[in-house]
Amino acid sequence: MSWDFETDPAFQAELDWIEAFVRDEVEPLEHVLGSPWDIHDPKFIKLVRPLQQRVRERKLWACHLGPELGGAGYGQVKLALMNEILGRALFAPIVFGCQAPDSGNAEILAHYGTPAQKARYLAPLLAGEIVSCFAMTEPQGGADPKVFATRAVRDGEDWVLSGQKWFASNARYADFFIVMAVTDPSVSAYKGMSMFIVPAGTPGLRILRNVGMADEPAATHAYLEFDQVRLRPDQMLGAPGEAFVVAQVRLGGGRVHHAMRTIGLAQKALDALCERALSRHTQGSLLADKQMVQEKIADSWLELEQFRLLVMRTAWRIDKYQDYQKVRKDIAAVKAAMPRLLHDIAARALHVHGSIGASTEMPFAGMISRAFQMGLADGPTEVHKITVARQLLRDYAPSDALFPAYHRPTAAAAAQRKFSAVLG
Ligand SMILES: Cc1cc2nc3c(=O)[nH]c(=O)nc-3n(C[C@H](O)[C@H](O)[C@H](O)COP(=O)(O)OP(=O)(O)OC[C@H]3O[C@@H](n4cnc5c(N)ncnc54)[C@H](O)[C@@H]3O)c2cc1C
Repeated sequence: MSWDFETDPAFQAELDWIEAFVRDEVEPLEHVLGSPWDIHDPKFIKLVRPLQQRVRERKLWACHLGPELGGAGYGQVKLALMNEILGRALFAPIVFGCQAPDSGNAEILAHYGTPAQKARYLAPLLAGEIVSCFAMTEPQGGADPKVFATRAVRDGEDWVLSGQKWFASNARYADFFIVMAVTDPSVSAYKGMSMFIVPAGTPGLRILRNVGMADEPAATHAYLEFDQVRLRPDQMLGAPGEAFVVAQVRLGGGRVHHAMRTIGLAQKALDALCERALSRHTQGSLLADKQMVQEKIADSWLELEQFRLLVMRTAWRIDKYQDYQKVRKDIAAVKAAMPRLLHDIAARALHVHGSIGASTEMPFAGMISRAFQMGLADGPTEVHKITVARQLLRDYAPSDALFPAYHRPTAAAAAQRKFSAVLG
């Protein structure tokens, strides 16, 4: 039997290196650079490329990947320990070669790409030479794929793609787009959509506008139009009608990696909350001495530790089963718990900092906005809670008894029968 909460010393040494490197070299970047995906910005090249090289030399590049793709093949538990450090800094994922949506796009290219697609798109993506975009959501709805209307229609051998996509993150920096489109409207949405790879600059692909978020330095979420975009047959990713099978591979890993990094961001808010409580006097004592502030600190810590344990156990189960379907409930649960966790801890940190906490001079309002974004990106919280409930209910059976076995008089009568020989 093994039931362990310790990190082996060799990996702890790596974590210590990562922690110091992120704190000293990576955290400051967000104050002088724009978007982490703007990889052709001359300042990015000067500041980020040398750090990426140090990560490669340390053999910590793209650790979410298995050795066959050039990663360390650490597995999810080690990745969780690493990611919770990376979560503290906006630029850490790109410095360590594991940023979304590229990590997920690489995963599906590795699983479903042809040798030619892998050579053209996957290899430079893994090397950090290009970034990519995943375009699924449409302006009329994201949570319900049944409303997606972007169509790809056969024209001879080719496909012709038309429609609009919404909130396609990093489109403006992307070298290629993975796009979901209806190819067979005669069957259910889950069987009639396919994935296509569309290189940036393809005639007919246009960014209508870029949408910004409260905490981001640049507007990076694109409203896209595909106007009669002609695609060759070899631009399909996976088989016709397989878009959802392909997308699930991508989202399973991505969701849990977001959760791992959220631990780091929430810890950053808690660190600030504690430091402020020990630093600020009011009404004759430190904030840290006031019970209502102590309650905020205690609630934050225990919620964070509960969440961390759930994430770690989910990571452990992914490693154990090597099958995202078997951990669907766990992944949906961490996805659903993540926004509230970050929201509540960041909100307490904001409040205890008073006016400066609510201002743009502090990061807390941005963290709260990020919490809302986490409750939407990769599907709204409600949808993931539905998954948790449905999966949980599979383990139960209905009772046709008028009074169920746990009804106290019914349970007492059963206990009397069971022990009658002894009790008389
Ligand atoms: C930061 C960020 C980055 C994103 N990046 C990408 C990207 O790169 N590519 C991409 O394709 N998409 C991306 N998205 C879009 C994201 O996938 C959608 O926002 C999400 O799927 C919800 O779709 P919607 O915004 O259209 O909201 P809607 O589908 O209109 O849903 C709105 C609200 O309705 C409620 N709701 C929905 N369904 C249910 C239900 N079954 N039960 C109860 N209530 C429900 C929820 O409160 C939900 O928030 C991103 C979103 C964000 C915030």
